[in-house]
Amino acid sequence: MRCLHILALLLSLATALTLPVHGQNRAYDLDITVDYDAGSYNGVLTVDIPNASTNPFSEIFFRLYPNDHGLYGDAMIAIHNVTIQSASLPFATYLDDTILMVPLPEALQPGDSTRMTIAFSGKAAQWGDDGASFIKSGYGILTKTPSTLTLTSFYPHVAVYSEEGWSLDPSTGFGDQLMGDAADYSVTLTIPSSLTAATSGRIVESVEDGEWTTHRVEAPQARDVSIVLFEDYVVTESTAGDIAVRAWTSQAHAFAGKRMARVSAESLAFLEARVGPSPYSEIDLVEVPLQRAAGVEFSGLILVSSEYAAQPNSTFFYVIIAHEIVHQWFYGGVGNDLSEDPWLDESLATFLSYDILEGVLGPGTADSLFDAARDIYTSAKQRAPGLSISSPRYAFPDSATYSSFVYSGGAAFLDDVRLEMGDEQFYLALRDYYNDFFGKIATPRDLISAFVERCSCTLDDVLLMYEIVP
Ligand SMILES: [Zn+2]
Repeated sequence: MRCLHILALLLSLATALTLPVHGQNRAYDLDITVDYDAGSYNGVLTVDIPNASTNPFSEIFFRLYPNDHGLYGDAMIAIHNVTIQSASLPFATYLDDTILMVPLPEALQPGDSTRMTIAFSGKAAQWGDDGASFIKSGYGILTKTPSTLTLTSFYPHVAVYSEEGWSLDPSTGFGDQLMGDAADYSVTLTIPSSLTAATSGRIVESVEDGEWTTHRVEAPQARDVSIVLFEDYVVTESTAGDIAVRAWTSQAHAFAGKRMARVSAESLAFLEARVGPSPYSEIDLVEVPLQRAAGVEFSGLILVSSEYAAQPNSTFFYVIIAHEIVHQWFYGGVGNDLSEDPWLDESLATFLSYDILEGVLGPGTADSLFDAARDIYTSAKQRAPGLSISSPRYAFPDSATYSSFVYSGGAAFLDDVRLEMGDEQFYLALRDYYNDFFGKIATPRDLISAFVERCSCTLDDVLLMYEIVP
């Protein structure tokens, strides 16, 4: 979330379920060397790009997220050269250098694949000791602070291609922008030996050579690979079944780290029992300074705002952690178009975080959260009757309106769907949706169809009430 805001487990749902294997994953190979003090990096990306569509590609588009100053402040990324089989290709950038376009020497036909290599460098936004302005540092998701370096969205991402073409919607300055097809990442990360790295996936090998250490990171089935580097942090480790959880915080917030690890384990257990297996075998949570965000999800890596880590006993802190864990299923496992259909993952993350709270702390404990969600949505709808929960992100005038519809309205809508269907059928439908669209980009029609197929009722009244047209 960028933002935010059990009933007894149904034993019948606990049947073991194996996730489908997707052999067509894109493969990213990244070689990154980091200058920690400067907050800068040099990298080489080699990426296998399959054409899984029915149209030939005459060019390939990449997203250069760091150049989006609305979300990334004064961070930047520059492209130095692009090659296929050692032959340099011309390239161009658009939309304030947030889009990279590489024309192909010959069209990439459906079913074929090409391997492209891109040399690039980048720099994180600087977070001053006095707390930099938002304009300067953005959300804080690609940012150097006095004690951390956060590297997310820091390399060229192949844009998502669908029947509508390449997804190149510009930033709105709020909400989540980062989206990608599921991919298998292999990262070689060279950093000063004094640093610790928390990453997506797993560090499978570390080789120290004096002042520098090279870590090899494997992150299968990821939508992104993200990294936080730091010194002097403490870690709390936990497990949920086979999933390892590591919560990293400053010494001052060590208690928050214990709570982050516990809430994560509780959330993971809930979701595995009710929705399906975790997409990731290891999840890291890291406290960092953030602006306008309580937490932000990445594949196997969650950023938690220092501001909220200072209040670890609050209900809201519980909800933040649970919300970001849900995103591992809905963002990581099942993707969606974050520009056209941002409500798909955010409504599920908000609804399920409340339901996890209720499941762990007891019936009724989330009532006030659901009531507040309905009130926030109802008053936002009165102010902006032309918008609906399922409006695209660019239709919303500002972050507050967006949040009121997509998060609060989305949670209220799903709670009404659950009331209509009953708990057991509702979660069976979510399980179907997760299993059927794991590794893919789902649409609103896919989620609604999953509900309708499990429902021995019609959902027309609820869909009409919330003006959702799948
Ligand atoms: Zn979210």
